[in-house]
Amino acid sequence: MSLRRERVELKTPEQIAVMRRSGKLLSQVHDMLADAIRPGITTAALDSLAEEMIRDHGARPNFLGYHGFPATLCISVNDVVVHGIPDDTALAEGDVVSIDGGCIVEGWHSDAARTHIVGAPRREADTALVQLTEQALWAGIAALATAERVGEVGAAIEDFVTEAAGETLSHLEGFGGHGIGTVMHQPPDVMNYRTRSRGPRVKPGMCLAIEPMLIQGPGDWDLEDDDWTVRATGGGRAAHWEHSVAVTAQGLVVLTAADGGAEGLAHHGLTPAPDPLAA
Ligand code: MG
Repeated sequence: MSLRRERVELKTPEQIAVMRRSGKLLSQVHDMLADAIRPGITTAALDSLAEEMIRDHGARPNFLGYHGFPATLCISVNDVVVHGIPDDTALAEGDVVSIDGGCIVEGWHSDAARTHIVGAPRREADTALVQLTEQALWAGIAALATAERVGEVGAAIEDFVTEAAGETLSHLEGFGGHGIGTVMHQPPDVMNYRTRSRGPRVKPGMCLAIEPMLIQGPGDWDLEDDDWTVRATGGGRAAHWEHSVAVTAQGLVVLTAADGGAEGLAHHGLTPAPDPLAA
């Protein structure tokens, strides 16, 4: 254990505006993928579509080459929770597919994930899993709006999941969100549940990726031989939702939401800060 405090990179309003451009492009990439996803398409084909769109906009994928990761997207199907590697697997009706991606615009990173059900769901529990994970994300984002310490985000996510899902869903222990900016992963950690650490003080200029990952049933998991794929071993499926969020003096901007977070925050009686690109 170290007493050294991790340095948190605080961004200027101008830097947050560039991060918003990065996040907005990523949101458009996710919209494109939502339209493209269908039975029969391979996860490698989705990956190519995302890389092409990011590069067409003069940006770069940030997952590709990250500690050797071989693709633009992590695509995690059914019992794969996170970090699935795109391949020639064709998606089937009812598959639960988490797509995580990010890009770099003028040196500034974005990172966001959404989970889709391909066509009609196989089980009602799959629909509940996907919806509750997205709602858990917004519970965490809403907590950040008034939090004094970063640890309040994880506490809010844990409380939401306990209340909404009881024992039916588990957190992926040991994984969580992170600071984001000039690199994709930077301090502080943003866990998805309560920990002993309250975390650093929330300050304007802080940019965080918040990303609950939930599994049906027990939260046991294994790392596959490829050293990336995290697979649930309790028989359940998994979902993963993520946004990159900026704390500003005027409030939050959800950088990777098309509307800056207006709709998601409205459910919590909150309004995002003015969009840095609207001025
Ligand atoms: Mg992330």
